[in-house]
Amino acid sequence: MNKEAREIIDGMIKQSGAISPCNICHNYDIWSDNDEAEKLVYAMATNEWKSGRFGPSSREDVMQLVKHALSDVTISCPSCG
Ligand SMILES: [Zn+2]
Repeated sequence: MNKEAREIIDGMIKQSGAISPCNICHNYDIWSDNDEAEKLVYAMATNEWKSGRFGPSSREDVMQLVKHALSDVTISCPSCG
């Protein structure tokens, strides 16, 4: 897995609202359970892929990375549960 690509995607996940700060402690970014935001991450990644930001990676590779990154988000706050 390409670390730089993953960092770009993690940034998109945050920007899209697919994760958001915990409502209670605000210390952790946790899963928003927001389908629209997750779709937006794929759309953003596709656009960035078209613009060449992911280098020679295929679109499928980038979409797989997005899928992995979304599956790695924190579901519930480690502090508040
Ligand atoms: Zn919390």
